[in-house]
Amino acid sequence: MAGAALPTAAFPSLETALKHHFGYDQFRLGQRPVIEAVLKNQDALVIMPTGGGKSLCYQLPALLKLGVMVVVSPLIALMQDQVDSLTDNGVAATCLNSSLDYGSIRQREAELLAGNVKLLYVSPERLMSPGFFGLLEQLIKTVGVSGFAIDEAHCVSEWGHDFRPEYRQLSVLREKFPQIGVMGLTATATERVRVDIAQQLRLRDPLIQVSSFNRPNLFYEVRPKGRDGYQELRRQVKQHQGSGIIYCLSRKRVNELAQRLTEDGESVLPYHAGLSDDTRRENQTRFIRDDVRLMVATVAFGMGINKPDVRFVIHYDIPRNIEGYYQESGRAGRDGEPAHCTLYLAYGDVATAEYLISQKPDEAEQRIARQQLRQMVDYAETTVCRRRVQLSYFGELELLEGLCHQCDNCTNPPPIEDWTIEAQKFLSCVARCQERFGMAHVIDVLRGSKKQKIMDLRHDQLSTHGIGKDRSVDEWRLLGRSLLHQRLVDETSDGYPVLKLNAASWQVLRKQIPVQVAVPKDFTPGPAEASTIEDTTEVAQLLTVLKALRKKLADQQSVPPYVVFPESALRQMARTRPQTLEAFGQVSGVGSRKLTQYGEVFTDAIRQFCADYGLESDPGAAARRSRPARERRQAVGDTHRQTLDLHRQGLSLQEIADQRGLKATTIANHLEQIIRQGETVAVDQLVDVNRQRTIVTVLTELENASLTEIRDRLGPTFSYEDIRLVRAAWQMEHSP
Ligand code: ADP
Ligand code: ZN
Repeated sequence: MAGAALPTAAFPSLETALKHHFGYDQFRLGQRPVIEAVLKNQDALVIMPTGGGKSLCYQLPALLKLGVMVVVSPLIALMQDQVDSLTDNGVAATCLNSSLDYGSIRQREAELLAGNVKLLYVSPERLMSPGFFGLLEQLIKTVGVSGFAIDEAHCVSEWGHDFRPEYRQLSVLREKFPQIGVMGLTATATERVRVDIAQQLRLRDPLIQVSSFNRPNLFYEVRPKGRDGYQELRRQVKQHQGSGIIYCLSRKRVNELAQRLTEDGESVLPYHAGLSDDTRRENQTRFIRDDVRLMVATVAFGMGINKPDVRFVIHYDIPRNIEGYYQESGRAGRDGEPAHCTLYLAYGDVATAEYLISQKPDEAEQRIARQQLRQMVDYAETTVCRRRVQLSYFGELELLEGLCHQCDNCTNPPPIEDWTIEAQKFLSCVARCQERFGMAHVIDVLRGSKKQKIMDLRHDQLSTHGIGKDRSVDEWRLLGRSLLHQRLVDETSDGYPVLKLNAASWQVLRKQIPVQVAVPKDFTPGPAEASTIEDTTEVAQLLTVLKALRKKLADQQSVPPYVVFPESALRQMARTRPQTLEAFGQVSGVGSRKLTQYGEVFTDAIRQFCADYGLESDPGAAARRSRPARERRQAVGDTHRQTLDLHRQGLSLQEIADQRGLKATTIANHLEQIIRQGETVAVDQLVDVNRQRTIVTVLTELENASLTEIRDRLGPTFSYEDIRLVRAAWQMEHSP
């Protein structure tokens, strides 16, 4: 019997079922069509970025159909995680894999055949093991099988980054059980792998759902890793809240960094393939359960780590390619809440990576690796929108129309300066040094150094000695790198980098081409950090209380905290302070099971908190109180100040943008941050009042929705700028 759809009289709509089982009010983009296809037994190929909400695409149908949904998943740790989460939601789920003893396998099989289980997670090995197909046949004859879901389906493809031969055999499912729907799910971004999956799994007229790979909640930035890179890293780690992953290129670097951070009092564990299985498992569990805040890891860490509330991912060394970077940084913010991705760029690291590439035996492999590294460096050095670079890499550029606001280059565009004179000084110094030295030496000469080496070589006699004293070493380096990057000078690549002039260098020297350099400004916090500004002390304190409660309940059940409630739900509780079960049930992420299980304890804690702090039960009332002047006067940066001044002179967005030579989106971004810092901005002057009303209606309807979701609802006539401004003002009014 192929699982037919249950008579769903109990759920007049799929949304009702979603709220009941998972506590969510809305489907994410792409979920509904897949769920509808699965309910009809149609095959499906689901391609969504990490955090897109793939699991729900088979979990909800599993609950709505008769029989068992069989989920193939490559990682045993992940399997247990999913089963825990589902069980906590009151969904009957179990798994079968090699880590179980014979007794528990027998017991689980009996439960399956008794019809007590809706979702069965199996490893591919288990699925192919003798006897398993017998079990399947029995299930089909008795309780029914509602579908096969192949998670991490890219493992079937040799073109993917994680090919597993066992996955190849999964095509027999389609042959042996033609009446049962098969779906493949993956976060792979490349076209070739997608096509391969559909072929390898022999999907039959599948619904192909490809979601955008844009992850609007992630803030991307690149920072230079200077001499005090470590201190800078520490500062950043302190700035962030919540869990974070720090990626390094080698095991050695992981160990060193983990140790140093530990010595400095950070809560850290290392993870790499050189550690024993037990240690790795334990470190991973402690990270997932929030016993430890930071994971310092090689790329061995991550795939299948289903921790949705990672708030930041730092690449302390340059990754090898953009696809890898996208996947690794994408482990931040799976829950859709703001998260931060930082890449540190040091040219020394690039040189090391290049050296490692040159050690590869195969020349074709070297070429590919070199090109990929080059693309990565281009990404790091770009002065245009980072998201644009990523998405164009995945062939999705057309989806992004000047609307990122979520990368360092968009929120804080580096000014372009004319450095032609400096470039001429630099290049003529390269020439005077007879093209036999590297950048550091050339800069020493320019800056008039009297180092022994300079004296020995008599380079203090060169006409270029000391002509660059007016610029710092860092500025000269910036110029040198920019010249290299623009191919206005060359560097030998045999491990001893020496600067060489090329034809373009001579054009610069002959004043035939000007040289422009993007001069990065100091970091200013992007929206991810800005959003914490809106949390008043009470909200933050209540959030801390609720997190502690969540951790306690999670530990009692030996599950990760996010299994109890996602971060977004806790935030909403802290903001709205629901004190009755009814109000608590309204929180997004609270389904009926969670309401019964946790409603009492959480509302108790919230009531207690309100009593302790003498707070009103209706935070809306608090919002109407004005904020103290001291709080309002958060330091507004200089560039923001200029924007604000022009705004107060009555200029429109576009007029301010024109006057300042910036993009309108940047101005909108300034104004948004200013609003969030409690300054008065005349939104009426910027957005038509009727449009404001429409936006507010949607905001109320879609609480906690992402900007994209809000815009989707409003339609293309509403600009992101308008939505952001109105949303910021609205949120400020409604936060206590
Ligand atoms: P993926 O497997 O695609 O990486 P998950 O299935 O783990 O993503 O989902 C990521 C997070 O999003 C989970 O915390 C999940 O509970 C949440 N989620 C999924 N669907 C929705 C929805 N419709 N509304 C709100 N949150 C959702
Ligand atoms: Zn951008």
